Amino acid sequence: MPKTVGQTFHTPTPVLPSFDYVRPDSPQEVTKLLSKSDGNARLFMGGTDVFVRMRDGFITPKILIDVKHLPGMAQVEFGKRKGLIVGAAVDMNSLARHPAVVEHYPVLAEALHTVASYQLRTRATMGGNLCNASPAADTAPAALVLEASLILHGRRGEYPIPITEFFLGPGKTAIKPGEFLLRIEIPPAPKGAVGRYLKLGRNTLGDLAIVGVAVLGYPDNKAKSGYRFRIALASVAPVPIRVPEAEAILAASPITPDVIEAAAKAAMEAAKPIDDVRSSAVYRKAMVKNLTKRAVTEVWEKLVQ
Ligand SMILES: Cc1cc2nc3c(=O)[nH]c(=O)nc-3n(C[C@H](O)[C@H](O)[C@H](O)COP(=O)(O)OP(=O)(O)OC[C@H]3O[C@@H](n4cnc5c(N)ncnc54)[C@H](O)[C@@H]3O)c2cc1C
Repeated sequence: MPKTVGQTFHTPTPVLPSFDYVRPDSPQEVTKLLSKSDGNARLFMGGTDVFVRMRDGFITPKILIDVKHLPGMAQVEFGKRKGLIVGAAVDMNSLARHPAVVEHYPVLAEALHTVASYQLRTRATMGGNLCNASPAADTAPAALVLEASLILHGRRGEYPIPITEFFLGPGKTAIKPGEFLLRIEIPPAPKGAVGRYLKLGRNTLGDLAIVGVAVLGYPDNKAKSGYRFRIALASVAPVPIRVPEAEAILAASPITPDVIEAAAKAAMEAAKPIDDVRSSAVYRKAMVKNLTKRAVTEVWEKLVQ
């Protein structure tokens, strides 16, 4: 059984350390439990990150808190004015096939489809994907270009935090002790918006991203080009990032292949990747340029069809 946090154990039969399973009756109870646990309690949704990290000895929570039954946690709601509301415990397959996601937020559906395998997505959630705060989280770029807010519950009740302020570093979020994620709120997508998520992995299915690029483009008379683009990247910085430098280039002058090339170059320059088991930093940078150029071009072609 793993004894030291942060060390990987390769046992012939991997085992989970023992823990208590707790199912509180209200968000207030969850907050109380988290507050008095001194870091020893942890929430889980699908458990596809939590249990793997426990098995490998990276984390050793004494208590796992199940909140999936609490009101709204497993629900998806949509309204043309309020947008999309995704309970933190909604599994990825249900979310990806939800009619509102398919019709109004296809870039999110596309990102969800790139996560691991169908089997894993029956358990894994977007809530867990964001709270896990991996730089490679596939739903993060989509959440960034869709300008999602995360609704947290803490000692003073509920409050929203914009996705741009949520990620603080690898595995670190703005969630404070005693707080947890209730739901993700995504505003209505801009009129006429077209999106694309391109992911490069070591294989076509079931691997974490070497690079992930989400692009959302839409008509906007106030932009000199007549269009605005939002661009977000995964797996090329300590946290998933928006790329305002590239977005500004696409707003500033009529879109041509040269302008797209310049925006893709700006995205590459904004990326601050590391070398790791999946890729070198140099290759990641080159692929940011490549994928950004492809994604923007595809979005642009659809916008002017
Ligand atoms: C084989 C395999 C392949 C994978 N492939 C991919 C991939 O392609 N792309 C990708 O992005 N990820 C991938 N992952 C990682 C993982 O599956 C995803 O991050 C998944 O979305 C996690 O969701 P979950 O519901 O299982 O989270 P959990 O494991 O339940 O939780 C993840 C983290 O978030 C915290 N947490 C969960 N819910 C809350 C909450 N409501 N409030 C506060 N904190 C919370 C937990 O304490 C934990 O730290 C893979 C994992 C495996 C095992």
